[in-house]
Amino acid sequence: MTTLEKEQKTSLRPIHTTGLGLHTKALHAGFNPDSITGACALPIYQTNAYLFPSADIAADRFALKDPGNIYTRMGNPTTAVLEERINAIEGGVGAVAFSSGMAAITAAILTFTRPGDEIISANTLYGGTYELFHYTLSKCGRTTVFVDTNNPAAFKHAINERTKAIYVESIGNPSLDVPDFVSLSEIAHQAGIPLIVDNTVGIGLVAPIQFGADIVVHSATKYIGGHGNSMGGIIVDAGTAPWTNGKFPEICDPDPGYHGLVYPTEFGNAAYIVKARVHILRDMGACIAPFNSFMIATGCETLPLRMEKHCSNALAVARFLEGHPAIESVSYPGLSSHPSHEMAKKYLGTAGVSGFGGIVGVRLHGGYDACKQLVEGTRIFCHLTNIGDAKSLVVHPASTTHQKLPSKERSDCGVFDNFVRISVGIEDANDLIKDLSQALEKIR
Ligand SMILES: *Cc1c(COP(=O)(O)O)cnc(C)c1O
Repeated sequence: MTTLEKEQKTSLRPIHTTGLGLHTKALHAGFNPDSITGACALPIYQTNAYLFPSADIAADRFALKDPGNIYTRMGNPTTAVLEERINAIEGGVGAVAFSSGMAAITAAILTFTRPGDEIISANTLYGGTYELFHYTLSKCGRTTVFVDTNNPAAFKHAINERTKAIYVESIGNPSLDVPDFVSLSEIAHQAGIPLIVDNTVGIGLVAPIQFGADIVVHSATKYIGGHGNSMGGIIVDAGTAPWTNGKFPEICDPDPGYHGLVYPTEFGNAAYIVKARVHILRDMGACIAPFNSFMIATGCETLPLRMEKHCSNALAVARFLEGHPAIESVSYPGLSSHPSHEMAKKYLGTAGVSGFGGIVGVRLHGGYDACKQLVEGTRIFCHLTNIGDAKSLVVHPASTTHQKLPSKERSDCGVFDNFVRISVGIEDANDLIKDLSQALEKIR
């Protein structure tokens, strides 16, 4: 071996991130440097398909006996790095990426449910998820019962023989409720069903699998990517859901699409995540583009650093707004006035970054007119519907994201006519406070 070859061999050692911290995982997990070129940055495998080494191997790949690549709709080496990175951060047995958060949530439900099944969900959900559960999935025969996010007993009470999962968000968007994960996972497991947590807003602050979640879903569009330039979604499987207890024929019945394959027999505790990829992603077709995986995996490298700044800025902005005369109330889990403050103190800050997240909600004395003036009057905050961008963002949900919901359903989600959602970015906190101050000054 030449010296150069030796050097290359040493520098190509994959880094095993098991047991390492969040910052290290976010940078290194999932990536083994390219052995041919030595490229240190993640290569973009912009290919639809992969050469089969032989006819036998081709047949084995289609029969799921060989794990090699087939077609980018079911998997891609660039995307695999993103999947493994988020899997490492969340502590799962496997992950699958999708074209968006909504695609990931849709797939997360379709992978294990059948028509007639029911889900018990927190009532303070991201608007898109609420619409999916309330309207679209119910047309596909999966109904959802919405209960008070902050009342575990309400979840327990709503469970019946058709119930197949409990669903919550780690920090509800936009009401910012933090549910009691331990109680909810105990309730779910007593009933023989999984707890599913959307950790889009809480990533880096809490890893719900540590507290009993069985499945974690993400919009990677938000904090993971972090720069508002690429859509993506991910499912992470903890490998802990009780699929073989007789309640889940959709996971356990032989799959006619794969010659009667039985997922738990073949793939053990990875049954769910394998099915999500080889059956649901394959059939839905909502695969992420390799370029987006590259952008999001690169963004993920700085996720913990950005999250720290999002949290400290959001707390500063929340404290400033709390004392402002134009503001009726401020909603931020880091303030003792928030109904979830105790839960937030218990769960947030346990996954590597301490703080209470980057989203702040405000209700204004002046109603919708005042909200309009605020969203139009800021100079640094971008007026748009997104969260988790490095830049600060502001929106009036009642007239935009939640416009189509009846007003009772809107207010149940925490979206009032005088409510503005602020996604606090990583600018200098003083600049953000000055900008909000000048915008609020104009409101009379
Ligand atoms: C944005 C968001 C989604 C949907 O993700 P997309 O990538 O926009 O499809 C789901 N859940 C939460 C909490 C979100 O903020």
